[in-house]
Parts: sequence; C-alpha cells; structure tokens
Amino acid sequence: EFRKDYEHSEVMMEVLHQKFGLREFRPHQREIINASLMQHDCFVLMPTGGGKSLCYQLPAILMPGVTVVISPLRALISDQVDKLNALDITAAHLCSDVSKSDSDQIYMKLSMREPGIKLLYLTPEKISASRIIIDMLNGLYQRGKLARFVIDEVHCLSQWGHDFRPDYKQLGLLRSNYGEVPIICLTATATKQVENDVINILNLRSVKRFIRSFNRPNIKYEVINKKGKATGAIAGLIKSKFPKKSGIVYCLSRSDCDRLADDFNQMGVKAKPYHAGMNDKVREAIQREWMQDRFHVIVATIAFGMGIDKPDVRFVIHNSIPKSVEAFYQESGRAGRDGEVSYSYLFYSYGDVGRLKRLMQMDRNMNKKTLEAHNENLKQMVSFAENVVDCRRYMQLIHLGEHFNRRICIENAATTCDNCQNIDKYKTIEVTKQAKELCTLVKDISGNGNFTLLHVADVYKGAKIKKIMEKGHNRHPLYGAGAPMDKTDVHRILKELILKHVLQDFCTYTGEFPVVYIRLGKMFYQFYNSDSRLTISVCNDKQIR
Ligand code: ADP
Repeated sequence: EFRKDYEHSEVMMEVLHQKFGLREFRPHQREIINASLMQHDCFVLMPTGGGKSLCYQLPAILMPGVTVVISPLRALISDQVDKLNALDITAAHLCSDVSKSDSDQIYMKLSMREPGIKLLYLTPEKISASRIIIDMLNGLYQRGKLARFVIDEVHCLSQWGHDFRPDYKQLGLLRSNYGEVPIICLTATATKQVENDVINILNLRSVKRFIRSFNRPNIKYEVINKKGKATGAIAGLIKSKFPKKSGIVYCLSRSDCDRLADDFNQMGVKAKPYHAGMNDKVREAIQREWMQDRFHVIVATIAFGMGIDKPDVRFVIHNSIPKSVEAFYQESGRAGRDGEVSYSYLFYSYGDVGRLKRLMQMDRNMNKKTLEAHNENLKQMVSFAENVVDCRRYMQLIHLGEHFNRRICIENAATTCDNCQNIDKYKTIEVTKQAKELCTLVKDISGNGNFTLLHVADVYKGAKIKKIMEKGHNRHPLYGAGAPMDKTDVHRILKELILKHVLQDFCTYTGEFPVVYIRLGKMFYQFYNSDSRLTISVCNDKQIR
C-alpha cells in the first residue's frame, strides 16, 4: 500500500499545480486522496473551509469513470460546477432548474463509452425520486463507469445530527445497488453517534477516518446569564467593542429578528434582519450589502449561514440558546474565518429553553423519535450553558468526538474562554444528599398536581409563598431543608437531575407563556434507590454570579 501511495504522489502534485493552481496540500488532503484512490470508503470530518472539495475532485480527475457527488444545496452545487468548469474540468449537475435540452445533453455525455463528464452533482431528492437518474446510474454501473460516490454534508443522514434530512436516508441504496463502488463522506459537523449512524445506514466497509482538530483557537467564548431581555446589553456590547465590525446576532424566531433589529436601530446600532419569512430578493440584497460591508450587524435566524463565507466576522452573538452544542459550534464558528481574534457570546436564560421546545413541538415535520433526539440535544446545550467549570472548547469538541486539553485554552491568553479564565473561582461539591431530598420532595408533591421546578426549589428553600401555604407544602418534612443553600444552586441540582433523566420536565402553556413542570423521570428509582453520587460545580466567590 505504501508503494501505491508513492506511485500516485507525483501525478497528484502535478494535477494540484496544473489543474487547480494550488501549491501544496492542506493537512489531511493528501492522505484522503490516497485512500480514495485506493478505493477505500472514507469518512472525512473537517472544519468548513478546510478544503474538503479537493479531496474528491482531484481523484475524480485522475481516475476513469464518473464521480457522483450528492449535495443538499442547489446554490452550492451550481457554484461548484461553475468553479470546476472554469478550471476546465468537466462537471455538470442535474438539479430541477436544468433545462430539458441541457439535461438531454448531460445524459447523452454520460452514456458515451468514455463518459464526457468527470463529476456529476445531484441532490439527494433526485436519487430517491427520479427514475431516469436511477436508470442512468445503473447504466454507468453496468458499464463499469461509476467511479465513486461522494456524499457532502453527510451528517444530514442522521437523526442525531442537527440538520436531519429525510431524503438522505435513501442513500442506503448506493451500497445495496452499487456494491463495490467506494463512498466518500464529507462533513464539518458530526458527533461519534452521527458517524456511527452514517456508517450503518450507508453500510460502509473498513472505513478510513480523517478527523481534523476542530478547535478554533482564535475565537473567545463567553456565556452571559441573561435576566429578561438582552437587547440593551447586546447593543451596548456592539457599540463599545465592535464599532464598524461585522457580526451576526442569532435569534430564535423570525419575529424576534424583526423586533431586535428595530430595537438596535433605535439604540444607534445599524442592523438588518434576515430570515426565511422574507422574500428571496430582499434577503439576497441584505446578504449582499452585509457581505460588502454596507452595514455591519445582521440579525438572523439560523436560516442564515449555510454556505456564507465572510472572512472578517468579528463577533457572533446568540440572543437565545441554540438547539444543540453542534449548532452552537457551527454558528459561533462563522466568526473569525480569517484567523483574527473573534468573539462568541451566548446570552443564556433557562426561559428560552421552554420557548425553543415549544417551537420544536409545533414543527409538524418532526416525529416522536426526532423530537426526542432534539430534546436530548437541547439538554446537552443547556448543560453547556450552565456549566461554569469546564473549558468551553473542551465541552464543544467532546461533542465532535475530539478530546481537547484545556491547557491549550488557558495558555492562549487572547482567547481563553470565560470558564478557563475563572478557573480559580469554582469548585466541585457533592450534593447527593440534597439531590435525594429534592427527589423525595418531587415524588411526594407531584402526585397532587403539576408543579414547576421553581416551586419545588422554593419549598426546599422554605420560602413563605402563598401557593406553598395553600397547597400545604410547608408541612412537608423537607420544607426549608435547603434553606442554607444558594437558590441558584438548588435550581442547578434540579436541572442536573433532569439531564440525567432522574427527573423530567414537561412544558405546558398558560396563554403565551411556557411553564415548565417537573415530574419523576425514567431513571428516578435507579438513582433514588442506589448509592450513586451527584456533584455540581459551585462558585467560591459569590460576586461573579
Ligand atoms: P470545505 O468544503 O471544506 O468547506 P472547500 O473545499 O470549499 O472547503 O475549500 C475552501 C477554500 O480553500 C477554497 O477556496 C479552496 O480553493 C481552498 N483550498 C482548498 N485546498 C487548498 C490547498 N491545498 N491550498 C490552498 N487553498 C486550498
């Protein structure tokens, strides 16, 4: 195998120089191209902008036959095809906007004995829905001209990913119909769980994995506890720290975007909204103006970002909680593509979690299992936001399957994360006793109606509140047992128990407002009757709360 490696390398360099006009390979590109030339299935996890395309485009040129690239976004596909054609590489796509005469010509070229197209781009819908395309693939395969499949954004295949797309599931047929044709999977975001899903669904064999470090050393991460609305705080931050600098403020909903952008403008920060509810023309114009620095702050839903590549984004602010740690990583990762120091701020309050859950519940495209996966992802994100002890990079990268040493974060002073900066101010304490007492409380009182997390915490703290008196919860033996504790620590124990499924939260609505109630979770008795311990991190120094 090593010899083969060597044999390819000269011609690889030549194509790199002559065809692509590039001087040298970036990390992993050479290895991926080699593995691919040797017909391995590959799983490539590389940050956006890392240079994934070259990893299949170069082998596509070197090998006989057609490389079929499956990619979800039509805009990106046309872009790629144009770039390749400009390099004199024969590429085509068969998206729905191709005219009949163009597609006829493409089919004609593909049916030639030596196909006149090296790279063919398709969307996953086409593979699952178009008989003509399946016939065309079968034809290529029978003639031995199907060189390889490339699946871009492969995380869309897994329900555990943050961007599941049902059409991707059909791609299992690639292996069952075209057995030995190698498959290259590309993504910039996948947990180990997503990777395993991908490997199973596509039935990959002895996969070569290429995982590049996802740490973004030039981004400083900070989570800020939000009380009420953060509009004023964010506007102040932008004005003082980022005058004339490009940034993105992410919001939960379209109406939030519109409102926040309005408020910003009134507070003297010029900003424009961007979301899927606006018509395409307006949206494209806003995107263009922002790209050209005609204004600096874009207030967007997560619809904004895929395929956006502005190098000098200096800050990304989350006005409310993102739906998963991976989503947070991706969204905040739009800052600092140029390598300059950049900032990510998350304005967090637990109240936003209820709103996000409600939005997810209203989404009709979600079946029960998907909803569960989303809820789980959200819980992980809550835990990320509430964790005041562990390194922010470590916590993100562990989700991407990477083990990160926080020393790197601490030593890189310009971008040390908030938690690493405060490392002396926190300690971990055992709260098993308190956790079990809270469990007893929930068990005893949740039988007689719905009670919120805050109510349970108030009973434990011994608050003199009307509702507690009315319900007689002040007569419970554990009423006031947690009096010496900090109230937010009591909340954190309860949330930690929810994360561990010892307790369970569920959401109902009184009017517009979500209320999060609490009840026993599926791991309740396992925890309650065992001697497993629970720890939380608490603050040494009350002032930094
Ligand atoms: P990804 O798909 O991983 O986000 P792309 O394949 O779009 O990244 O590549 C990002 C940019 O990097 C492109 O402009 C590409 O031309 C450039 N690039 C890729 N490989 C190299 C290389 N070896 N040397 C210089 N530039 C490269």
